[in-house]
Amino acid sequence: MPDTPKNQTANNQNPSSTQPQLAVAEEEVEQRRFKHTPPEGLVPGTMDALPDRMQYVDWVLFQAESIAITHELKRVQTPVLEKVANLSRGLGAETDSIEDQLFRVTGKSGDAVALRPDHRTGLARAFAQDKFSRQDKPVRLWTHGAIFRVVPLGHGALREMLSFGFELIGEKNAVLDAQLIQMAHKIIKRLGLADVVIQVNTVGCLDCRPEYIQQLKEFYESRDNALCKKCRKRRTSNPMLLLTCKEEKCERIAKDAPQIIDHLCETCHKHFTETLEFLDDLEIPYSLNPQLVPEIEYYARTVFSVVTEKTDRPRVLFEGGRYDDLIEKMGGRPTPAVGITGFVDNLVLALQEQAIKIANPRKADVYLAQLSAMAKKKALSVFEMLREGGIRVVEGFGKNAITTQIEQATKLNVPITLILGQKEAMDETIIMRDMVNGVQEIVPLARLVTELKKRIQ
Ligand SMILES: [Zn+2]
Ligand SMILES: [Zn+2]
Repeated sequence: MPDTPKNQTANNQNPSSTQPQLAVAEEEVEQRRFKHTPPEGLVPGTMDALPDRMQYVDWVLFQAESIAITHELKRVQTPVLEKVANLSRGLGAETDSIEDQLFRVTGKSGDAVALRPDHRTGLARAFAQDKFSRQDKPVRLWTHGAIFRVVPLGHGALREMLSFGFELIGEKNAVLDAQLIQMAHKIIKRLGLADVVIQVNTVGCLDCRPEYIQQLKEFYESRDNALCKKCRKRRTSNPMLLLTCKEEKCERIAKDAPQIIDHLCETCHKHFTETLEFLDDLEIPYSLNPQLVPEIEYYARTVFSVVTEKTDRPRVLFEGGRYDDLIEKMGGRPTPAVGITGFVDNLVLALQEQAIKIANPRKADVYLAQLSAMAKKKALSVFEMLREGGIRVVEGFGKNAITTQIEQATKLNVPITLILGQKEAMDETIIMRDMVNGVQEIVPLARLVTELKKRIQ
């Protein structure tokens, strides 16, 4: 066990104190626990995202995108359809549980095809094939979209899951592992979620893992009769997964099982210690969990998971880790990499369960009001100028009375209203009204975007 870093656990955070800006919802949203029973005619494990739900989805993706922009991740997208041969190569041929979970698609092209069960395998394939792999390292990417797994239904399990992924490719440094955990931590904080724990573990590398697996096999061989049916089946193919079994008898046995931390090679030990030290430096609370073993086999060294506490069963909000061998497996050059996947549906559910009010990411920054036929004409070009300048603007072109327009701006809760009258239209200026204190000032149109950007975040 690395001795330097502290073993910490996540503090429970009160959402209202950590996220005051979220305390005021743009409009009163009915806090509906969304039901997983699919309406008649829907494929089991899928669901519609109607407006009530979609605003939560947008809010989560908005936070993910802001973090991606801050960390200079470039967005990429790979096809939803992948060849089964690619997926098997990436996910591990021995991982029958993942193979069983593939949503196979029958088409006319001879190749066996499936809906992607994760983003990373397709991304690693693309990276192995494309020139963008020659960019400065680490290559920083992010993606979002649906992934598909044929998982058992019940307890709200979805087979079509919306997720996003942050990937840092091309460097071994443990600081990247810590940075990704930090990104997940930031998202959790920005969403205002409480009762969440970051779990960290290592699964060793191709050098040290085989010997550890051998020891595990020997350990479990003599205990075969005491194991559950599922574990007896996977005891020889993937004994590390036995450590994760939730059956009481298997959990009891797992407590005495050899731990990988005692069998790491020097490089893995150093990498894990460094990761934890970086997390301490960044003041990120985490908990070491030797039972954290991902089902997907491409992970090497650090693995992590962000899960809810105090719910009936822990819900995974994020999972990720290092996958130093995956790109080579997909036909590329040996390329270390680390990534994290955020599960949007689970994040949405956690927000709803904790009754966290959300803001609308699509909320407008300014309302553009106009006062005369001439001003209305001018307002059209001002509107375009604002849009091009990246200002989120709504307009009142359909309304003539200024009072009606101000009323609408108040209802929309915009911080600033712009008023364009005939005089302003002629002078190439505009009135900027602060909707909080009612103060008005005249701003030249040429400086409008700059002035607005100073006032809105
Ligand atoms: Zn190792
Ligand atoms: Zn079991």
